[in-house]
Amino acid sequence: MEITTCRMCGNIFNYVRGQMICQSCKNKMEDKFKEAKDYLYKNPRAGIRELAAHCEVTPSQINRWIREERLSFTEDSPITLDCEKCGAAIRTGRFCQRCKNELSNGINEVAGFNRKPAEHKKKEATSNKMRFLDSDSK
Ligand SMILES: [Zn+2]
Ligand SMILES: [Zn+2]
Repeated sequence: MEITTCRMCGNIFNYVRGQMICQSCKNKMEDKFKEAKDYLYKNPRAGIRELAAHCEVTPSQINRWIREERLSFTEDSPITLDCEKCGAAIRTGRFCQRCKNELSNGINEVAGFNRKPAEHKKKEATSNKMRFLDSDSK
């Protein structure tokens, strides 16, 4: 545990893990998330910017929820995401179903040292993405 400043409200709090925001901001974000989900339910054709404006959050926060598979989109939604592996259009998360299957097969099949470079690469891609999201949300 360490003392840090909340990225959202600037208050000092005890940081444990996850996003660097205090408990009351976390609760606020949960409310925003529910609002976003609700809005999307009523307006399935809403875009990311519209959704972000409605909930008063940054588009990168919306993106984060999408990548965490907490928000998903219907077939007629204008929002499309690219599979991080093959670039296919997906509606939630980071990979299309085919790549998800491939990835989970790969983990089962590949044992030993073949596995390490792939894992390393994946980790790198994730941390780049995080950095991008973080700098974007300031
Ligand atoms: Zn806060
Ligand atoms: Zn894919």
